[in-house]
Amino acid sequence: MYNPKSLIAEEFISDEEIRATLEYADQNKNNIELIEQILEKAAPKKTGRGVECAGLTHREASVLLACDIPEVTEKMYALAREIKQAFYGNRIVMFAPLYLSNYCVNQCVYCPYHYQNKEIPRKKLTQEEIIAEVTALQDMGHKRLAIEAGEDPVNNPIEYILECIDTIYSIKHKNGAIRRVNVNIAATTVENYRRLKDVGIGTYILFQETYHKESYEKLHPAGPKHNYAYHTEAMDRAMQGGIDDVGLGVLFGLDMYKYEFAGLLMHAEHLEAVHGVGPHTISVPRVKRASDIDPNVFDNSIDDDTFAKIIACIRIAVPYTGMIISTRENESCRNKVLGLGVSQISGGSRTSVGGYAGYSADERPHDTEQFDVSDQRSLDEVVKWLMDMDYIPSFCTACYREGRTGDRFMSLCKVGQIQNCCHPNALMTLQEYLEDYASPETKAVGEALISREIHNVTNPKVKAKAIENLEVIKNGNRDFRF
Ligand code: SF4
Ligand code: SF4
Repeated sequence: MYNPKSLIAEEFISDEEIRATLEYADQNKNNIELIEQILEKAAPKKTGRGVECAGLTHREASVLLACDIPEVTEKMYALAREIKQAFYGNRIVMFAPLYLSNYCVNQCVYCPYHYQNKEIPRKKLTQEEIIAEVTALQDMGHKRLAIEAGEDPVNNPIEYILECIDTIYSIKHKNGAIRRVNVNIAATTVENYRRLKDVGIGTYILFQETYHKESYEKLHPAGPKHNYAYHTEAMDRAMQGGIDDVGLGVLFGLDMYKYEFAGLLMHAEHLEAVHGVGPHTISVPRVKRASDIDPNVFDNSIDDDTFAKIIACIRIAVPYTGMIISTRENESCRNKVLGLGVSQISGGSRTSVGGYAGYSADERPHDTEQFDVSDQRSLDEVVKWLMDMDYIPSFCTACYREGRTGDRFMSLCKVGQIQNCCHPNALMTLQEYLEDYASPETKAVGEALISREIHNVTNPKVKAKAIENLEVIKNGNRDFRF
């Protein structure tokens, strides 16, 4: 029985409800009158408090996704762009993954770290190696990391993860510092989530991979991750453990994308219904080639156009949720989806354990890679590329450090007021990047961008303070935020 308020996985992600949703979407995919109503409901509206969006239910959003009338798709894209502009402007938050360990006891059939892969060398960073990796990441200009580790209670117990986070936050190298550590580790207990909260993590990220239970169990034939309910209910335990910001995601290409899409939105509705706050982010990875993994064996892989449509529909359905794509996607695909709703991207990423320290921008070790990186540009190249397209690369981490998490963050975000912080913070953190890490060419483009964009800070007091801070940053001071 479908119940978004239930804490039982198979009740808030009801297979029956997803199938009924897909049938409803299919029946209405050419129902122009209904589709127009849905688009109208989702459009940004001016209210006394600011700009607000109603979002969509999983059923409504599924109708949009099912519709393949080209003119309607164009309308959807236009609406996704409008929503993106209203809540995220032209800012793109930058981050990098840091792989701590590829030891894993699970047998996920799409991941080269699976237990039975004897081809891949196993590696776990020591604290000294973490210092070297984080120093290299700081030297690139990163301020926000997503740490990744396989599930292995012996090699990667929670104590190891906690120690790594402490080490990462403690490293202050030149003007660099990692100011936010997001964590992507296996589903765990309420107590362990509490311990992660206590060491100051940003977002807890856990990809569902697939919401289709039968497929899930086939794709995870053994190991603790085999347990669909334990995995699917992890975000509830994380929130019970005090983690306010959680990040959802499915690995597109594993099962029917329309099924995954409906499941993903139902999961978001569930978090909102039970905890009063939806997911902080949604990631949209696609299956990639890697050691021992051939993505062609997954016959549900999706093309770039479908991928773009999914992203636009997510943007429309959950306007307040940040959307992340990684360097799994190549430059042209990233280009296409940035305008449709993606708000965070990784840059200069290495997806191997120990992939940063000791390697030049052109060198990348492949031996322990989790997946092929399609976008192999350096962070400086990605930053310049974004600015050439008039996006503002942002290294902002202010909210979590100001205690603006969970519903405190959402209440500001939902009326568009967070922009008053995001925009100047993006410019100030970009200025830091330009001073400390950018190539001369990138710096010149960035200086011109900041001079233009500072005029888009609407609050006069904030604008005056931001201008003052930009000067102080040029004189060597760091770490200002609204
Ligand atoms: S996806 Fe995660 S849990 Fe599964 S094999 Fe890879 S590292 Fe292990
Ligand atoms: S102000 Fe908050 S929401 Fe805006 S970019 Fe910074 S951390 Fe993100």
